[in-house]
Amino acid sequence: NHIRHYLHSPLHVLHARNIVNHNGIPCTGGGAAVPQPHSSPASEVPSPAEMEPDRPIGYGAFGVVWSVTDPRDGRKVALKKMPNVFQNLVSCKRVFRELRMLCFFKHDNVLSALDILQPPQIDCFEEIYVITELMQSDLHKVIVSPQPLTTDHIKVFLYQILRGLKYLHSAGILHRDIKPGNLLVNSNCLLKICDFGLARVEEPDPSRHMTQEVVTQYYRAPEVLMGSRHYGSAIDVWSVGCIFAELLGRRILFQAQSPIQQLDLITDLLGTPPLSAMASACEGARAHILRGPHKPPSLSVLYMLSDGATHEAVHLLCRMLVFDPAKRISGSDALSHPYLDEGRLRYHTCMCQCCYSVPSGRVYTRDFEPPADRNFSHSYDNSLLSVWQGKELIHRFITEHQQGKRVPLCINPQSAAFKTFIR
Ligand SMILES: [Zn+2]
Repeated sequence: NHIRHYLHSPLHVLHARNIVNHNGIPCTGGGAAVPQPHSSPASEVPSPAEMEPDRPIGYGAFGVVWSVTDPRDGRKVALKKMPNVFQNLVSCKRVFRELRMLCFFKHDNVLSALDILQPPQIDCFEEIYVITELMQSDLHKVIVSPQPLTTDHIKVFLYQILRGLKYLHSAGILHRDIKPGNLLVNSNCLLKICDFGLARVEEPDPSRHMTQEVVTQYYRAPEVLMGSRHYGSAIDVWSVGCIFAELLGRRILFQAQSPIQQLDLITDLLGTPPLSAMASACEGARAHILRGPHKPPSLSVLYMLSDGATHEAVHLLCRMLVFDPAKRISGSDALSHPYLDEGRLRYHTCMCQCCYSVPSGRVYTRDFEPPADRNFSHSYDNSLLSVWQGKELIHRFITEHQQGKRVPLCINPQSAAFKTFIR
């Protein structure tokens, strides 16, 4: 009863009016390319249902998001436009990877594609529109709002973040940009990880270099700040640790002006790391640490984040905020920490899709935190050699993805809302 009461007590920040456009009205790149239905015999293919954009909402690093009503069932959904897809090979690869990931995901705590709008004929194919579930807010907006955040909220949010992360990592995917703004939440406190624009497949070969343009600085793991050329799923766990502290204290844990200062703030808290923890660091970063004064750890300040920073909470936090990625707790192991027991219970008692109630009680799923059933394949990444080839491949991918599904959707270019939006 307590759980139900808590869930039904409104989180005031999560009203629809809080759906705001972060990015302002976006540039639509001329706005000429609106998906048009294929001309095909009406007897064979159902005519596409038309979509009216209601309003822009705008989350996502590489796209614009509208709130729309699905004309097939009247359901409110989010429509994400992926613009400038075919500008160059890099953006083509990035969008195709994100698109394939969105279609691959099948997990309640990871945002996935419900549908993709029917593309026009390939000569006019410039933009891709993906439909996802509509979420009303994100954790950043919740944290900066005046809305109280109870320990119950924090536990159920953290549980869902780690549950989604375990799924991603088990599929061999690193998110690389976990931050509060990429954690969508709705009024029932359901949480979904989103924005896979920077996500990559984990590189098992440590001799292979990985790119450095990773993660918003405040949530960036020390090994990335230290210029490590190879990193793994531990970078996402670091980000979750920072977010956990931010939920408790309602302020960014390591808010620095530069990557060097970011590293200094981290060592202020964790102390000077031993040489063994800097094995993969670049020479300059290691020299910077060794040149500075020797710092003792000051982890006890974490107890001062808030009343919610109990011994159990700080214990888990300290397992996530470990300088050495090899010694940092994994997302999967973090789920076994006693701090998350209540969040798990709450989630599976009345929030999840995997358990259900019968008159005699609740029937629980066999696996509370299921892994992915297979690895995400990255074989396409290297096979894309030109923008035109990418265009053909993506066009075919969308067409094949839609086959045998519901009535295809397209945007209604005549709609007043759409025209206003384009302007
Ligand atoms: Zn469940």
